[in-house]
Amino acid sequence: MRIEHNFSRPPLMVATGNRGKQREYRELLKGLPFTLVFPQDVAAEVAPKVEESGATYAQNAALKARAWAEATGWLTLADDSGLEVAALGGAPGLYSARFAPQPHATDADRRRYLLAQLAGKPQPWQARFVCVIAVATPEGTLHFAEGVCQGEIIAQERGEHGFGYDPLFLLPELGLTMAELPPEEKNRRSHRARAAAAIRPILQALASPQHLGGESR
Ligand code: IMP
Repeated sequence: MRIEHNFSRPPLMVATGNRGKQREYRELLKGLPFTLVFPQDVAAEVAPKVEESGATYAQNAALKARAWAEATGWLTLADDSGLEVAALGGAPGLYSARFAPQPHATDADRRRYLLAQLAGKPQPWQARFVCVIAVATPEGTLHFAEGVCQGEIIAQERGEHGFGYDPLFLLPELGLTMAELPPEEKNRRSHRARAAAAIRPILQALASPQHLGGESR
């Protein structure tokens, strides 16, 4: 399927419903020659049902990117990311968005659950955020980029910015949590910022006419 559009620049579908990620991608992808489109911008019946059944971040990101590229006919970027805590053997990792026993858990529930799992374990609680971006072309080619950000989990939330586990994730070199950083500073240091910087030249190359179904094919 290829959805017709009348954007002045070619569309780049950013296939995430997570409003925190969306806010960050609006900034991180600035300056690229695309019109960013998010799932809420297209008709609900277009949205593919994607089960995140992969065994790695890359596989999950690829599942999301491919499904949306097929559903829209547009170049698509998807992100799979997570928090890995050494004292928990790398958990929640791939399951970061689903990490809490209750069915309709919020970010705050997941942060509480994380601290409950860490209670009694020796500090510091070393952790890292990982983000893998997959870009799928409408023809089915995939490109990947990864970003990692090292830090520590702290026992009390601090800061109002960001989303997810940000209020518990300390950047030791700054003495600030991700949620205490102004958004532009998170967008210079985060796992997502690093993955986005690595994928930027690929997106730039994909913006050329032959990749966008232009006349040179
Ligand atoms: P997914 O990539 O949609 O499977 O979910 C990633 C989950 O990891 C999010 O729902 C958050 O709980 C967590 N996460 C990923 N990136 C961040 C971040 O930048 N800050 C805080 N939490 C994050």
